[in-house]
Amino acid sequence: MKKLVFLSVYLLSFIVVFADEGMWIPLFLDKYNIEEMQEKGFKLTASDIYDVNQASLKDAVMVFGGGCTAELISDKGLILTNHHCGFSNIQSHSTVEHDYLTDGFWAGSMDGELPNPGLTVTFLIYMEDVSKRVLAVFDETMSMDDRDLKIDSVCTVIENEIVKKNDGKYDAVVESFFYGNQFIVMVTQEFKDIRLVGAPPSSIGKFGGDTDNWVWPRHTGDFSMFRIYADKNNNPAEYSPENKPYKPKKFFPINIGGVQEGDFTMIFGYPGHTQEYIPSFTVDNIINLENPDRIKLRQAKLDVINKAMAGDKKTRIQYAAKQSSIANAWKKWIGQNMGLKTIDILKEKQKFEKKFQKWAKKTNNGSMYKNILSTYQEVETKIVNYQKAYYYFIECAYYSDVWRIYNSVYKRLDKISKEEDFEKIDSLKIEAVEAVDKMLKDYDPVIDEEIFTQMMLFYFSDVDENFFPAFYNDIQYKFNGDIKEYVHNLYEESVFPNQEKLKDFISKYYNGSSKYKEEYGENAIYTKVDLLKDPYLILFENFRALYIDKILPEFGSLSDQKDSLDHLYMKAQMEMQPNKIFYPDANFTLRVAYGSVKSFSSFDGFVYNYFTTLDGVIAKDNPEIYDYNVPEKLKELYNAKDYGKYADKDGKIHVCFIGDNHTSGGNSGSPVINANGELIGVNFDRCWESTMSDIKFDPNYCRNIMLDIRYVLFIVDKYAGAGYLIDEMQIVE
Ligand code: ASP
Repeated sequence: MKKLVFLSVYLLSFIVVFADEGMWIPLFLDKYNIEEMQEKGFKLTASDIYDVNQASLKDAVMVFGGGCTAELISDKGLILTNHHCGFSNIQSHSTVEHDYLTDGFWAGSMDGELPNPGLTVTFLIYMEDVSKRVLAVFDETMSMDDRDLKIDSVCTVIENEIVKKNDGKYDAVVESFFYGNQFIVMVTQEFKDIRLVGAPPSSIGKFGGDTDNWVWPRHTGDFSMFRIYADKNNNPAEYSPENKPYKPKKFFPINIGGVQEGDFTMIFGYPGHTQEYIPSFTVDNIINLENPDRIKLRQAKLDVINKAMAGDKKTRIQYAAKQSSIANAWKKWIGQNMGLKTIDILKEKQKFEKKFQKWAKKTNNGSMYKNILSTYQEVETKIVNYQKAYYYFIECAYYSDVWRIYNSVYKRLDKISKEEDFEKIDSLKIEAVEAVDKMLKDYDPVIDEEIFTQMMLFYFSDVDENFFPAFYNDIQYKFNGDIKEYVHNLYEESVFPNQEKLKDFISKYYNGSSKYKEEYGENAIYTKVDLLKDPYLILFENFRALYIDKILPEFGSLSDQKDSLDHLYMKAQMEMQPNKIFYPDANFTLRVAYGSVKSFSSFDGFVYNYFTTLDGVIAKDNPEIYDYNVPEKLKELYNAKDYGKYADKDGKIHVCFIGDNHTSGGNSGSPVINANGELIGVNFDRCWESTMSDIKFDPNYCRNIMLDIRYVLFIVDKYAGAGYLIDEMQIVE
């Protein structure tokens, strides 16, 4: 159970439906949404989408990896997700000799499918509203800590009961909705043997790169395919060559009839995080402080990485996944600010807050509600400095590669220091050296030093002095205030940033015992005493102490206060608007969003069509630019108009389309479903103006971007020659 806030009133009863905006809980579709969905054209029932007694669409949708969605498209466990969701797996199989990022990968047969240690998919088995049980264990007279303890303990009981009832076959987690006003337990099943089946080259799957990311019109074939494997009883199992393709309860038939403006669309997936109900002061801080700071820091990282990637093929492969993830959020924050400012969200929120204030004074619960906003504003003002120190610490230090390397290697060395059995020490050393090789496969100390230098320069110029870590004194006194010199020395002297030095250090590390030294001589040189002198250890410990002693206590307590205010403010907003339909903010649980295929006019005179075609891909072709270098084979197919059955009735290959479905990060890879419950596309992005929808969904500007399923099949069949995969699917023409 995640840390939550409280409240003692059961609120669901006043939810009513309203249009287009929203990410809805599948369990309640029947009650709140299905009528409206059917009015919009949907032909199935709520239980066709979500049912616990019979197979339903939810059995064909899953969490993919840590933060995406995927869907089943064959009865042999074949799954479809985005190229960017499978990117790190595709990258991990890539080398300069086998560059699957550049050339694409197609397994050719099941035997050629590649295992991906660590990759999982998770199905929702069922969800159950447990609000009454959770809300009954606390009341508002309790302190925050007490409430949290009570909530945690009842949730643990509920979770354990479910796990036991199912003989450990399923996992269970109670999730909080509406800021702790509702609680639903999610019962899930995880599969661990997931193999890579196919991915187009980046020049299709990531076509347009960062330039086109978050942008409409779009021409990216953002998909990849994997397969779930299970044991002989069709149950989850660790990877084994003996495993068999998973036989699903349900998979999506694929409709290649094409989409028209106005067609019903439904997105079924796992949106991660939205904040639709927060007050203007918090939004103000996001727009004017947090986003600009983060954009600046990421820009500096990207400047270093992009330059290095452009100059060297090996670096391009090594840093591809890292670069993508840094750039993705960077560009999203830029778009979010642009959108929120354009619609003047602050004015809109302030107007609402005035109304709220008037209502709060009059309502029966006024004594509880009338000070929410003023208290919130005070807390928001106090938290700003702590928050800034926190996200600078995260962006500048915690997200750095050396931090990750240090963290993992330190734990291993510490274990060796405490181990007495010599044989065990030897095997721990071997494991640690292997781990270093793996961890540093995609790492370049020169690039890392440059990034870390930039980050430290920003940290010490932007963050309040009270949050300077202790090594700042060293910078001042030993390095004459020269941050660059300090970082350079760090990278020279520490063993952690340097693969060979680090491996040598590990090989010669021992527990300090004289017997070991006697026996191993040359291989018993360094001990914990040497480790403790390492300059990176000192930096790490200083930052950790700063975080634990100076940032966390106050930041944690102010965040708790904010949590409790969010909770109360949410409850009050719902009471104030009893006829409005509220949907809970996204929390990476399964949701349904629905709307239709829709063009839009953007801010300044642009009118955007609702689809793009292969003509646009060809028009963007530029062999000089990696992201726009259209593969020869695709050009040949285009010139020959060799489109098979995948062309639209206008004779063209349609690539992407847009709609007004409310989606968020995590919805990547989600199935786009038509009125009959068939697959017509894969969700992968939003247009730039639309990234504001995590804070405010505006139906005029917010559009999600989907890949036309016919482009996926065209690439698989005609481009990759992997028609055997199409044979597995159920195609509706
Ligand atoms: N690109 C996002 C994702 O990776 C989707 C979105 O934010 O619209 O989940």
